[in-house]
Amino acid sequence: MKREAKTKKAVQVAIVGGGIIGTLTARELSRYQLDVLLLEKEAEVGWGTTKANSGIVHAGIHEDPGTLKAKYCFPGNQMFPRLCEELDVSFKQTGILVVALAEEEMDMVHMYYQRGLERGVPVRLLSREEVLAQEPNLSEDVVGSVFAPEGGAVMPFELAAAAMENAVANGAELMTESPVIGAWVEGEKKYLETPTHIIEADVVINAAGLFADEIARMFGDDYFRILPRKGEEYLFDLELAGLVNSIIFPVPASKISKGILVIHTADGNIMIGPTSDNVPAKDDLGTTYSGFERIFSETRRLVPGLDPRKVITQFAGLRAASDRGDFIIEFSPNVPGLLHLAGIESPGLTAAPAIAADVPKMLEEQGFKLTPKENFQPRREGVVRFRQLSRKEQDELIRQNPAYGRMVCRCETVTEAEIVDAIRRGARTLDGVKFRTRAGAGRCQSGFCQPVIMEILSRELGIPAEQVSKRGAGSEQVKYEAKELLGKGVS
Ligand SMILES: Cc1cc2nc3c(=O)[nH]c(=O)nc-3n(C[C@H](O)[C@H](O)[C@H](O)COP(=O)(O)OP(=O)(O)OC[C@H]3O[C@@H](n4cnc5c(N)ncnc54)[C@H](O)[C@@H]3O)c2cc1C
Repeated sequence: MKREAKTKKAVQVAIVGGGIIGTLTARELSRYQLDVLLLEKEAEVGWGTTKANSGIVHAGIHEDPGTLKAKYCFPGNQMFPRLCEELDVSFKQTGILVVALAEEEMDMVHMYYQRGLERGVPVRLLSREEVLAQEPNLSEDVVGSVFAPEGGAVMPFELAAAAMENAVANGAELMTESPVIGAWVEGEKKYLETPTHIIEADVVINAAGLFADEIARMFGDDYFRILPRKGEEYLFDLELAGLVNSIIFPVPASKISKGILVIHTADGNIMIGPTSDNVPAKDDLGTTYSGFERIFSETRRLVPGLDPRKVITQFAGLRAASDRGDFIIEFSPNVPGLLHLAGIESPGLTAAPAIAADVPKMLEEQGFKLTPKENFQPRREGVVRFRQLSRKEQDELIRQNPAYGRMVCRCETVTEAEIVDAIRRGARTLDGVKFRTRAGAGRCQSGFCQPVIMEILSRELGIPAEQVSKRGAGSEQVKYEAKELLGKGVS
């Protein structure tokens, strides 16, 4: 489509990228009387690095002093309980243990403890006996540990989707399947081009994750690079739930990684990872045998009972590491009104609420006048999680809405009503449903429930089953008229 034929749209603030940084920023800006538009290239928000990480809300003891990572990590951590309560997102304050397996590693444990005290992070030193009393399945080799009780775990995709839902309820606009393919400046205004639109904006916020350097370059702003660094993760069946109660870190062997961890996820599964390998390509999301071997050999030193046969799925994510080795949170020195929220590698998920909360202040420092909305609604309407209810509450729900009585995902106990609710809140694909509800995320990895979820997506979105995709155009699941295969009802 020629540029002249594209739909024109003017907004005050355009955000490029709907990861955790872009969505929480949209929510923060929706507190003010501003036109805010978020452009996301994928079919749903949260599908970049935000969907493929360890989901840890870090305590704030790992980051080197003087870095932006340190500046934003602990404040971000402190915002999680309220944020997740307002948005009704799963968050568990499991606590974080950094464990020494040899006497000589205790120096680092003491260093983290001191750092925690200096930063105001709640921390305790634990003896070998205290650690083993708290985590009986840890290796007998444990010597001691620092414990940070306010570290925890969140479902990152759920948080990004919820933040966007709340931002939209407060007046922000979302355009998915809208990759920015061109950008330029004319006078005071900045322009973004997508396959269908030309967006004019006073401020552009670059939250494009791995592609933030490419968005900057489209504006002729070529002063940083994003270097992808891969992390593989392996998720265990719920059968192993309870093997650890908190998130277990080793004493890291290198400066660029916090080590390979045993993670108690917000959903209660055990997950191990991540690796930390520089890779050349920004789409290299494959897992590897060498990654698997490294992860198991490292984590079984910490928790010997980790059984590779109980792995139900694996994935890899790419950290958007900058060539500065730190976050880049600044207005461009070359393009006025272009704000970079780039290079947000780990602990970017933890830092995200604090980074987003700073954006209105940064806009005001540049002379933008922000007027708060009187009717801003911080709360998102609650989500029903059928599996977490008592039998009595479940019966009552089924009486009110029989779709709660139709079980779609047996592994994770997800009902038809929850899937319909997820679709009404914005899920458009099988992955969107899975990450919002857990339907298809369990032991059978959607082997049984996928046709039924496809049927519900097809019905609710009013599209033929051949158009139902795993994660947007190009990942459709059936290539022929599928009506006969579907429509068999739910179990
Ligand atoms: C393996 C691994 C484990 C990690 N574990 C943790 C952890 O436990 N705790 C923690 O705090 N942090 C962790 N992190 C870091 C954390 O995941 C990231 O800091 C965070 O997700 C970054 O979010 P983002 O919004 O910047 O990027 P993204 O989530 O990648 O979002 C960028 C968005 O921009 C979109 N986009 C890109 N180009 C365009 C374009 N041209 N037009 C429109 N949209 C575009 C993408 O589709 C994407 O949705 C981990 C990272 C990895 C890889």
